[in-house]
Amino acid sequence: MKKIVSFDRPEIWENYDTENSITRKTAIVKEYIPDGINTIIDIGCGNGIITNILNEEYNITGVDLSPIALSYVKGKKIVSSSDSIPVEDKSFDMVFSSEMLEHLPDEVLSKTVLEFKRVARKYILITVPNHEHLATTYVKCRKCSNVFHPYGHLQSFTLTNLEDLFSGEFELIKSGKYGNKKRYYNPLLLSIKNKMADRWFDVQSSVVCPNCHNDHFPKEKGNLISKACNLTNRLIGTKREYWLFALFKRK
Ligand SMILES: [Zn+2]
Repeated sequence: MKKIVSFDRPEIWENYDTENSITRKTAIVKEYIPDGINTIIDIGCGNGIITNILNEEYNITGVDLSPIALSYVKGKKIVSSSDSIPVEDKSFDMVFSSEMLEHLPDEVLSKTVLEFKRVARKYILITVPNHEHLATTYVKCRKCSNVFHPYGHLQSFTLTNLEDLFSGEFELIKSGKYGNKKRYYNPLLLSIKNKMADRWFDVQSSVVCPNCHNDHFPKEKGNLISKACNLTNRLIGTKREYWLFALFKRK
């Protein structure tokens, strides 16, 4: 049902960070980078919006699968998949990855974690969406009925499952949740809204259906059931900070 959303499109990378959120996030990233770090590899760096800022202070290399995204990265760069990076073992002081792991299918995620552990000499710094309830953001293509996450998220992380992934050779030394608090949709209410009312996430930005390439996603008009669900959820839906940060150190 869910095919991977393609990121090799210029319109994605040219309209990034409209709300200044990356600037806020980069300030937190800088606080997390330990003293004595010189070389950083930024894996899944996208258009380098963070990489280019860190490049002023660190010897940083950006890695991404998309040549279009990498064309915006000013410093050193490598076109590569995250699960097989053409660099030596322990060749960077720190592996950094910002909002990339949530895009990976299970088997690619497992291999990517092994690559992070192989490449990092001392530290691994991860940021991912905090405990994302993926179904909250599912959209439905009205042309082919495909239901998918508009930003291509396939994984949801809590601190516990991040720790499980990186434990062994590495230990968690710092973590935190930051950013705007986002209200989560109660799963039962969401299921009623999706299945009974046939109302889905109202996507604000440009989306292309990964199945049929339809790019017309008109505003989702509410009906009585969906409005009742939204109203009830406003009363009972819990809120969570958007970003989860975790810094791991080699034991
Ligand atoms: Zn479609």
